Amino acid sequence: MKKAFRCAAALFVCAALLFTLHVPCLALGSSEKITACGEDCAFYPTIIIPGLGQSNVMVTDDNGEFLLDKNGAKISAFPAYLDVGSMIRIAVFPLLASILTQKDVGLSAAFGKIIDTSFGINTSDNNGQNTGNVKTERYLYPYSEFNDYEVESVNHHVPFELYPTELPKDHLYYFAYNSFGNHIDLVDELYEFIQMVKAQTGHDKVNLVPLSQGSTIVSAMLEYYPQVADELHKIFFVVPALNGSIIIGDVFNDRVNFLNRDYLYNGFFDELGLLDEFTARLIEIALRILPDEVMMKTVAEGVRHLVEGVMTKSTAMWTLCPPEDYPSAAQKYLSSPERANIKAQTDKYYQVQLHHRDNIQKLVDHGVQVFDVVEYNWPVINVCERWNTMNGDYIIHTTSTSMGATFANVGETLPEGYVQQNTHCTDPTHNHISPERIVDASTGLLPDATFYFNGNRHDLTQHNDVILKLAMKMIADDEIRDVYSSPDFPQFLFGRNVSELLPLMKTAKELDRSGLSEQEKKLLDDALTKAQSTLDNNLASGDDLKACEAELRAILVKLGAAEAVPAPKDPTVLRSISLFLYDHFGTNGFSELPALTIKLIFQKIVSFFKG
Ligand SMILES: [Zn+2]
Ligand SMILES: [Zn+2]
Repeated sequence: MKKAFRCAAALFVCAALLFTLHVPCLALGSSEKITACGEDCAFYPTIIIPGLGQSNVMVTDDNGEFLLDKNGAKISAFPAYLDVGSMIRIAVFPLLASILTQKDVGLSAAFGKIIDTSFGINTSDNNGQNTGNVKTERYLYPYSEFNDYEVESVNHHVPFELYPTELPKDHLYYFAYNSFGNHIDLVDELYEFIQMVKAQTGHDKVNLVPLSQGSTIVSAMLEYYPQVADELHKIFFVVPALNGSIIIGDVFNDRVNFLNRDYLYNGFFDELGLLDEFTARLIEIALRILPDEVMMKTVAEGVRHLVEGVMTKSTAMWTLCPPEDYPSAAQKYLSSPERANIKAQTDKYYQVQLHHRDNIQKLVDHGVQVFDVVEYNWPVINVCERWNTMNGDYIIHTTSTSMGATFANVGETLPEGYVQQNTHCTDPTHNHISPERIVDASTGLLPDATFYFNGNRHDLTQHNDVILKLAMKMIADDEIRDVYSSPDFPQFLFGRNVSELLPLMKTAKELDRSGLSEQEKKLLDDALTKAQSTLDNNLASGDDLKACEAELRAILVKLGAAEAVPAPKDPTVLRSISLFLYDHFGTNGFSELPALTIKLIFQKIVSFFKG
C-alpha cells in the first residue's frame, strides 16, 4: 500500500520542480513608493517567478485561517495534504483484509480515497478554480521588507543569502503562486504584480527571472498582455518549461510507465533515481505480499484519481503538457460538456505554446534582453514512457527548455559528420556544438544567449552555484550580453551540486583549532584552500567539486567535526532474490508461488538480515 502510494507520489515528485490552490483574486499590494532610489538609479527591479511547488501554499480551515501542526507550524498543501492519521484509518482494514484473503477487499477503493483526501485539496471546479482550503503566502513588497520567516521560506527555494548580488534588496521581488492554480488568473496576477513593482520602485521597466513552471506564466503573459514588452528590460529564463514536459504529456495520455506490470516488478524503482538499489529491490519483493492483479488495480486506481480528479482539472498543470500531446489529452480528459470551461482556457494556452518562440523573438526585436539556462544529459524521470528516448534534465525534455536546440540522447553523441545547423546563428565563426558533442545550440531560438549545464538535474538547480552566480550577476547589471561576454560564463558549463560542500567549508572555517596539531592544521587549510579555489573556478566540473568535498570531509571526520557518509547497503542478495522471483514466477504474489519456494526465499531473507 505504502509502496503503491510511493508510485503516485513519485509522479508528483517528478512533476515537482515544474508546477500551486485557489488564490482568490488577491488585493494588490501597496502602490506607495517603497524604494529610496532616485531618478538615476542604475538598477532594474527584478521579479523571481519560481517553479513548481516553490511557493508556500498552506492548508487552512473553513474560515480561511491557517491550520497548524502540533509544533505550531503551518501545514503545506503541496503537493498534497498528508494527514497520516486519516490515511491509516482509511487504509488499515482494507489492507489487512486484502493481505489475509489475497483479494481486493476494498483496497483499491481505499487507495483512491486516500488520493482524494490528500491530493484532493488541490483540485478545482469545472471552471478551473481551486476548491480546497488553501492559501498562498504572497509577498507584495520587496525582499528588504521580508520578515525572518519569509526570508527563510524563500531561501528554502532560492538561496539568495548564499549568493550576494549588487542588486539592492529593495529592488528584489518574489512572485509566489499556486502551482495547481488557474493559469489565466496567475497571468493576470503577474501582470498586476509588475504594475505594483513599478509603482513601489518608481521604475518603468523590470527584469523577470522565471524558473521552470514560472516560465509558462510569463510565456502566456507575452501573448495575453503584449504591451508588457514596453515594461520589460530583461528576462532570464532558468530551465523553462516553455514547451511543457513529456512527463505530463505522457501521463495525460495514459503512458504511465509504472502501470507496466513487468517494469514495476523489475527495474522501475531502481531506475527512479530517488532510491538506492537495496531499497528499490526490497520494494520489488514486498510488492508480492499481494497478488499482482490486486497490486496493479490499486496503483491504477490511485493514478486515475490523481490524474482525473486533480491534475486535469488544474489549468496550470495543463500548461505543462507539450503541444504535441495536448490535442489527444484534451480529447480524453476535457471533451465532456462539464469540462468545457476548463477546455476553453487550456485551448487558449495551447495557442500560447504554438506562438511562444515568435513571441520571444518579438521581444528580442523590441530590444528586451532575453537569456536562457538549460540543463542536459539526464534522462527524464522514468514515470513516463518516453523517459529515456530523448535528452532531458530529469524533469523536462531539453528541446522544451532550450527553445528547440538539438541534442543527442543521453549516452550518445551527435552523429559522425554532423554539422552545426546554424538555424538561428548568423555568425559563421561561432561554435555552438558542446565539447562532448551532445548539443547543437545553433538550432535553439537564442544560440548566443543560452547557457548549457552538462549533467545538472532540474530539481537540484538551486544547488548549482554557477547558475546562481550567473543569475545574481544578470539581475545586477548588463555586463553579460551573450555567451561570449565573460570567460567566467561561456556557453557550455557543468552540472554542480554544492549543497554538501558549502556546510563542510563553513564547519572547517569555524572549527576550534586550539587542540589541533600543526600537521592537522595544515591538512585542513590545504583542503579548504583547494575547495575554495575549485569553487571559485566556474569551469571546474561537478566531479572536481565532489573530490574536494570528499577530501575535506575525510579530514573533518578524523577531527570529529563531521559525520562520514554511510556506505550504501549491499544490494546483491536482494537483487538476486528479486530477479530470481521475476525470472521464475513473473509478477505473481507470494501466495501464488509454490510453498516450498516461499520457504526458501524467507530463509534466505532471514539469514541475510541476521548476517
Ligand atoms: Zn532603483
Ligand atoms: Zn552564434
